[in-house]
Parts: sequence; structure tokens; C-alpha cells
Amino acid sequence: MSFPGGNGRTLSPRRILHLGEPHLRQKASWVDPDDIPGVEIQRIIDDLVMTMRAARGAGLAATQIGETARICVIEVDNNPRYPYKPPIPLTVLVNPTWVPLTEERFVNNEGCLSVPGLRGDVARLTEIRVNALDRNGAEMVLTVRGLSAGTYQHECDHLDGILFVDKLEDPASLSTWENFERYRREEYLVRVAALVDRYGQ
Ligand code: ZN
Repeated sequence: MSFPGGNGRTLSPRRILHLGEPHLRQKASWVDPDDIPGVEIQRIIDDLVMTMRAARGAGLAATQIGETARICVIEVDNNPRYPYKPPIPLTVLVNPTWVPLTEERFVNNEGCLSVPGLRGDVARLTEIRVNALDRNGAEMVLTVRGLSAGTYQHECDHLDGILFVDKLEDPASLSTWENFERYRREEYLVRVAALVDRYGQ
């Protein structure tokens, strides 16, 4: 998949790094807000969006495509990998940080484009406040709840070199996608529906 980008550059999806590649474990560097409008940062953002969409991910962080800038993108729109996820419009987060708004957690079952073929249970906070800059350098403050809060926490973890497999609630919850479908999906969907019902996201 490719299409002409700004300045005549042809955009094509970047390679997504997989578990075991050392760069995935690096902490991303804070972006100088003055650099956000520049070609380099704008190109990383374009690449992240395009690569996330091509891979059908719900989010993608710069560390996953070999970049060091503290940037991630999130978008959920009838995602076939995660059909139960409520929609999230395309959101570009530069220098994201978050704080808990509750101590309550839910057990999510997560996959990751950098951990191909596997899913596992991770406890995530149900309500957080996210601070970030958008791709124009404007400040954003978002309150994120429910299942969507898990997506934000997963992407922000990537920028600290953390993968979902580091945070497994129980190592035995790690499974292939096929076995998740076979043994866990039904029970998980009931829990997720209750969460989404409660928070609307
Ligand atoms: Zn991931």
C-alpha cells in the first residue's frame, strides 16, 4: 500500500519491529515542541498512521518502527483484529503522559503488532487523564475510560520500552490468537461488553 504524500514523497508502511529487537526496549526521547512542525517529526507521524492502518493495528508507537521520538498514534474504526473495541478517532500523541483518575483496574486481553501471534491478560486502569501535544503542537488533555483507557496505556508503555508481555496478569494467560478464539473469547467478550456499557468507551 502506498500513496503520494506531501512534498511528492511516496508513503509506504514501515517495518514493524518484533519482540527481541533491542530498539523496542529503548525509552523514547522527548520531542522539542519547536521541532513538531518540522519535516522530520511530521514524517514520523505520517509513517506511524500509515503503518498502523496497513497492519490493522489499534495503535502504534514510534519505538515500534525504529524511531526514538516520543510519539504514538491511536485509531479504532471497525477494527477486524479487535471487533469489540469502541471507536477512537485518529489521535496523534506527541510527548504523552498520563495520570490515574482511579485505582480501579480491569483485566484486558491484549495483542500487539510487535508480539505477532500472541495475546495475554494485562491489568489496566479504567480511567486516566492523558496530556500530550497534537501534530500541530497544540496541548491536549483527554480523559479516557474503559477499554479505550487500556489502549492508551498500552501505547504509552511502548514509549518507555515496555511490552504487554512484561505485565502479564498470569503467564498462563499468554496464548495464540487461535486459542484465544477457541478458549477465552466468549468469556472475555462478556466482560468487555460490561466495561464498554459502563463507560461508553
Ligand atoms: Zn503494542
